[in-house]
Amino acid sequence: MTPRSTTVAVVGAGPAGLVLAHVLRRAGVAVTVHERLSRPALENAARAGVLEHRVVEYLRTLGLADRLTAEGERHGRCEIACLGEKVLVDYGALSGGIRHWVYPQQLLVRDLIAAYERDGGAIAFESPVEAVTLDDANRPVLHTAGGELRAEYAVGCDGAHSVVAAAFADRADGPTRRYPYDWLTVLARISRPVDKIRYAVHADGFAGMMPRTADVGRFYLEVPAGEELAAWDERRIRAELAHRLELEGSDPALGGLLETGMLRMRGRVAHRMREGRLLLAGDAAHTVTPSGAKGLNSAVADAADLAGGLIAELLGGGSARLDGYQQRRLDAAWQTQEFSDRLLDLLHLPAGLPAEQREFALRLRLQRIHRIARPGPEATEFARAYAGAGELAAAPVWPSAQAAAVASAATAR
Ligand code: FAD
Repeated sequence: MTPRSTTVAVVGAGPAGLVLAHVLRRAGVAVTVHERLSRPALENAARAGVLEHRVVEYLRTLGLADRLTAEGERHGRCEIACLGEKVLVDYGALSGGIRHWVYPQQLLVRDLIAAYERDGGAIAFESPVEAVTLDDANRPVLHTAGGELRAEYAVGCDGAHSVVAAAFADRADGPTRRYPYDWLTVLARISRPVDKIRYAVHADGFAGMMPRTADVGRFYLEVPAGEELAAWDERRIRAELAHRLELEGSDPALGGLLETGMLRMRGRVAHRMREGRLLLAGDAAHTVTPSGAKGLNSAVADAADLAGGLIAELLGGGSARLDGYQQRRLDAAWQTQEFSDRLLDLLHLPAGLPAEQREFALRLRLQRIHRIARPGPEATEFARAYAGAGELAAAPVWPSAQAAAVASAATAR
C-alpha cells in the first residue's frame, strides 16, 4: 500500500483537533484528521459546558459560534454555599462585564464538525492512530489500520492517553498531582434550568450543580479517592445531592439520571509540548480537574496559538511563532492549574479532618468566599480568571495562492 501524505496530521477530533484543523484548512494548509470514535459516539459525549468569554470571542471571529451564541446562555453569577449561607459571586460585575457562555461540549463538537465539512474538510472517524514513528528525516509517520500517513507535522489532540505524546523521547512526561478525593459525576434531567453554578462547601464533602441546557444539569459529589461507582445507588446519589447542595423548592428538581460516572481527580502538565515535528495540544499536554471549567477552554486556546504558529511556519511567516508555542502554552497551563487547584482547595476540606474540626475549617473558607464575592483586588482577579477575560492568540489570514502552493508541495512529496 502506498503511504499517503499530508502537511499536518491531526490526531483526535475533540475541541482542540477540530479548531486546529479548521483554521489550518482555511489558510490552505493540507490537513488530515483521524478520530478513534464513531461520529455518533463523538457527537454525543457530554463533558464540558462552561465556555470562557475569550474562547467564544475567538470562535466568533472564525464564524464558528453562530449556534453557540444563538442557543447558549450567558452566565455571570455563581453562588457558593457554606454553613447555611449562599454567597452570591457576581463575577460578571466584578470582572467589568466578562461572562461565561454555557453550551454543551457535544453541541460545540457537532458545530465544529459541520463547519469543517461545509468548508470541504473530511474527518476519518473510527480510524484510531495506533502509533507514531519518525522517518529518516525525522518526519512523522502515523500508523493506522488503513496504512501509513506521512506528514510534515503531527499534532496530538488525542486527549490524556495521547499516541503522539507516546512518541516523545520522555513520553511527554511531567509533574502530576493526584487529589485525595474523586468526583462522582451526574448528568440529570431537571425541572427548570440551573440559573447559576452552585458550589457547596460542606462538612460531608463538596457538591456542585452546573448549568448545561434548559432541561439537563451537571452535578458533582466529592467522594473518597478510588471510590467505586457501584457504592453509590441512585437513592444515595439523590439524597446526598439534595443534602449537600441544600436544594430548596426554588431550585431545579432532579428528574431522571441520564449518566453517572466517577472522575479520578488529577492534574498533569507535560514538560514539553513540542519535540521536533511532533506537537501536543489540549488534554494531550495537560489535564486539569473540572473545577474552574478550564479543560476545554485551554484546549481551544492551545489550538488557536498553534494554528497561528504552524501557518506562519508553513506559509512563509517565519518560525518564531511556532518556536514560542511551547513556552507560551506551558505558562498558560500552569496558570490554569493554579487557578483550578486554588478553587479545589476552597471547595474541599482537608482529607481526614476530624468531625469536630470541620466547622473551624468551614468558617475559614467562608471568609475566603466573602473575599472573592466582595469588590476588591482579590475578587477582580478571581472573576477575570474564572470568566476568561482577555483574548486568545489569533491566527493570521494568508493569501490563498501562497496557501495552495504549500498544500500542493506536501501532496507531491
Ligand atoms: P478530547 O476532547 O479528549 O478529544 C480527544 C479526541 O481524541 C477524542 O475524541 C478521542 O476519541 C480522540 N483520540 C484519542 N486517542 C486517539 C487515537 N489514538 N487516534 C485517533 N483519535 C484518538 N472543560 C471546560 O473547559 N469547561 C467545563 O465546564 C468542563 N467540564 C467538564 C466536565 C467533565 C465531567 C469532564 C470529564 C471534563 C470537563 N471539562 C471541562 C474538560 C474538557 O471536557 C476537556 O478538557 C476537553 O474535552 C479537552 O479537549 P481535547 O480536544 O484536548 O481532548
